[in-house]
Amino acid sequence: MGDDAVQGRSGRNGFAALGLERHGERRGEAGWLAVQLDHPASRFYPVWGTRILVAGDVPRAVALSRAELGETLVRAEAVVFLGRASGVTYFAAGFSRAEAPEELAGHGRFVDLRGAASLLPAEHAARCAYALGMVTWHRTARFCGTCGAATESMQGGFVRRCLAPDCSREHFPRSDPAIIVLVERGEYCLLGRQGWWEPGRLSVLAGYVEPGETFEAAVAREVLEETGVEVTAVRYRSSQPWPFPGGIMVGFFAHGINREIELRDGELEEARWVSREQLARELKAGTLTLPYSVSIAYRLIEEWFDAAPGWRLGEWTGEV
Ligand SMILES: [Zn+2]
Repeated sequence: MGDDAVQGRSGRNGFAALGLERHGERRGEAGWLAVQLDHPASRFYPVWGTRILVAGDVPRAVALSRAELGETLVRAEAVVFLGRASGVTYFAAGFSRAEAPEELAGHGRFVDLRGAASLLPAEHAARCAYALGMVTWHRTARFCGTCGAATESMQGGFVRRCLAPDCSREHFPRSDPAIIVLVERGEYCLLGRQGWWEPGRLSVLAGYVEPGETFEAAVAREVLEETGVEVTAVRYRSSQPWPFPGGIMVGFFAHGINREIELRDGELEEARWVSREQLARELKAGTLTLPYSVSIAYRLIEEWFDAAPGWRLGEWTGEV
């Protein structure tokens, strides 16, 4: 599990190297779960809003024992069985945005995962992303989408069942798919920026998959809507869990047919074709920045950049 043989290129993406067996078969074993919840070796990743607990100058994610959590666990709005590694059972403990679990502050500091992810060990970032994704789903699934009644958590936190007897619908954790695509044409790739990003930041194009649409069709539609570029030869590359708030990024390469760019839907402030030479030069000059290396966006750009002999993106960004 989690190695390259299973995950291929995706295993190198941020939030992929979980290092946990999920043990879905144990989610229905209420007695076993109850024992694990109180077991001194079990560990809990606290999630407060979108924040996770870290400690150290070079930050590491903190997973607390049941004793360290103490009475705070009673205030958790969600407790989720994440899985097991090396005989240790891991849970997520989610606390509401409004109510800071201040008594846990002695164990570290709460930081936003999105900003901290690239500083954390890959396995820690992946587990925190998993924990955040599950806790966020619980927060948004407290009421039944069919009848509006309250729901309750079951199956180790992997099901929420509607409490209305005439409904009883079961709701499951969800991941909303979004495509992300590097469009290449000759020596160039197509990069764009949204107006609210920091100055100079460019990235590949992305957008949510709509109902009734394949991933490939979503790639073609998003690129055309955002830049006026038609694409062909859409090829899947890798994927990445993206818990901001509950997504899965599905990454592609595509070939751009036309060179002319027309910003059609106003989502981008700028889009342009960039060659490796331009990218390297502007990275060196500091006039262009790329997304964090933890993002699949960075990995797609790196994969394209490094495909030409003699070019290595890490030499220009300092990322490994
Ligand atoms: Zn219902």
